[in-house]
Amino acid sequence: MPTLLPLAGKVIVIDPGHNGRYQASFNEKLVPSGHGVTKACNTSGTATKAGWPEHAYNWSQALALQTTLETLGATVVLTRQDDDSLGPCVNERAAVANTNHAALLISIHADGNDTAGTRGFHVIYSTAMDGGAGLEAASKALAIDVRDQLGATKMPRSNYVGQGTALSPRNDMGTLNLLQNTPGIMLEMGNMHSATDAALLKSPDFQASAAWAIATGCAKALN
Ligand code: ZN
Repeated sequence: MPTLLPLAGKVIVIDPGHNGRYQASFNEKLVPSGHGVTKACNTSGTATKAGWPEHAYNWSQALALQTTLETLGATVVLTRQDDDSLGPCVNERAAVANTNHAALLISIHADGNDTAGTRGFHVIYSTAMDGGAGLEAASKALAIDVRDQLGATKMPRSNYVGQGTALSPRNDMGTLNLLQNTPGIMLEMGNMHSATDAALLKSPDFQASAAWAIATGCAKALN
């Protein structure tokens, strides 16, 4: 029987990047980030020129995505429970996906690039995952599915990362590197230092359209 709930039975972890609170003594402590390397627990993230912080966008976009994924039948687990607290660190976010045996992890961020005219979204995937080459390939496939769906939103592909592909393979991603069985990606949803992108990111309509695009990409990757 065809299902109207394409994500039924799937656990999806949403990771709203950064935290509501920042305290240097907490955030600068070093934690494992894969392959024997360490990294700071977490960074403050960026902000718009008007001072709207990235963690607030990430949180709002995560809640919109949660609603959409649940509408499609998924069970959603968030890596942080509010937008007021210190922590979790980057390694703990991977552990949420690992211990829940999640089907996917979607980490939500926005970038801050000061070069004039830079705009758009890009999708990061890891080339150094604990889960190995098979998991890296599945994560790249997820990145492509979500990238393609985000083309339906008003946010263009990045004009400064990925040379037109909006894809960014990296080996220094603490959360993505530590995934054992869960394909995962990090979305840089726009450039908060661009006034045009900042206005889009703040818009509930854009957040809703992005949530549908990401969720559709998840469904394509899993089916
Ligand atoms: Zn970020």
